[in-house]
Amino acid sequence: MPTLREVLDDRVIEGDRALWEPIPDGASARNRVRCYACGHCCPIAEGQRGVCKVRFNQGGKLYVPFGYVAGVQCDPIEKKPFFHASPGALAYSFGMLGCDLHCSYCQNWVTSQALRDPEAVSPPMPADPESLVKDALAQGAKVVVSTYNEPLITSEWAAAVFRKAREAGLQTAYVSNGNGTPQVLKYLQPWIDLYKVDLKSFDDRHYRQLGGRIEPILDTIRALHGMGIWLEVVTLLIPGFNDSDDELRSLTEFVASVSVDIPWHVTAFHQDYKMTSPADTRPQDLVRAAMIGRAAGLRYVYCGNLPGRVRGLEDTHCYQCGETLIRRLGYWIEDYKLTSEGACPVCRAAIPGRWSREFDGQITAAPFLPRSRSRLVRILTSE
Ligand code: SF4
Repeated sequence: MPTLREVLDDRVIEGDRALWEPIPDGASARNRVRCYACGHCCPIAEGQRGVCKVRFNQGGKLYVPFGYVAGVQCDPIEKKPFFHASPGALAYSFGMLGCDLHCSYCQNWVTSQALRDPEAVSPPMPADPESLVKDALAQGAKVVVSTYNEPLITSEWAAAVFRKAREAGLQTAYVSNGNGTPQVLKYLQPWIDLYKVDLKSFDDRHYRQLGGRIEPILDTIRALHGMGIWLEVVTLLIPGFNDSDDELRSLTEFVASVSVDIPWHVTAFHQDYKMTSPADTRPQDLVRAAMIGRAAGLRYVYCGNLPGRVRGLEDTHCYQCGETLIRRLGYWIEDYKLTSEGACPVCRAAIPGRWSREFDGQITAAPFLPRSRSRLVRILTSE
């Protein structure tokens, strides 16, 4: 029986040359390459792998994942979370395997830590971009989202799916840790509409514990905003890790310095994977963090994962007159008042986002039941 690594190594293509280059031969090594798909910018010797384990050097060329999915699911777009992009829409989410970080509290560890943690096993299913997009359309999705693993490290595959998605009139999105590079953002720019960055902390020492550095993430946030890609930022609030007033103040002041119009979601932690010691985040912790974000000048601050327990901090309010424009309970839209131009109906202030002309209603019957099970999953699992 082949190992997971052998199965995955069969599902690769040569990486796009925008995302890697040969390193000139030195006295000690030949055929080395450098990968630019994420902020690690790994130099990779022949026969070796990058930090993510899924991109590897064979014969002086970089090979990258392609042609499979490890998970496919339709979710409300609010679950990603995007609150300022087509509210109520269905987001067709797909993921591969692997990550460039190793967060001990990862909620997608079964897919993200594959090839690193022997207990992380999620069988890859062969797939092609056309079938995924057909399936997304059949499900009634408006947006196709690369998520579950870190999408930056599988950007060639995401770009291939997004090309087809755009041709079919769908929007495209990344749910990402934001550990990008100028090269990968330039590569993605023609194909991507929405981008969620997880800003996990504002302390480089914390990022190093997770296997990264803070600077590439901050650069990615600045670059995405500068490129005009719709950006929302999320911070999972972990008691004792990233929830001090000082850290939250610095973090939200940074986001506000890029733009006060970037929505900031502060979401509740629950114990998962190897992080089992901090207590779960309480509603009052989220509200405290949200107040710090507002004091920093952010206009759109949301509390997530504790529906109905955060005093209106799931709703979108007009920054100018305070009118409640979108009322939410968890992922559920309870009321929608934006005009067709995406403005407040009372004072006409424009609200930033990628709004539909009108609210089409949610196609879910209750949070959350998709219309029907993914056709693709049915085909792939022969059920
Ligand atoms: S994606 Fe990141 S971790 Fe993986 S090989 Fe490239 S630079 Fe290294």
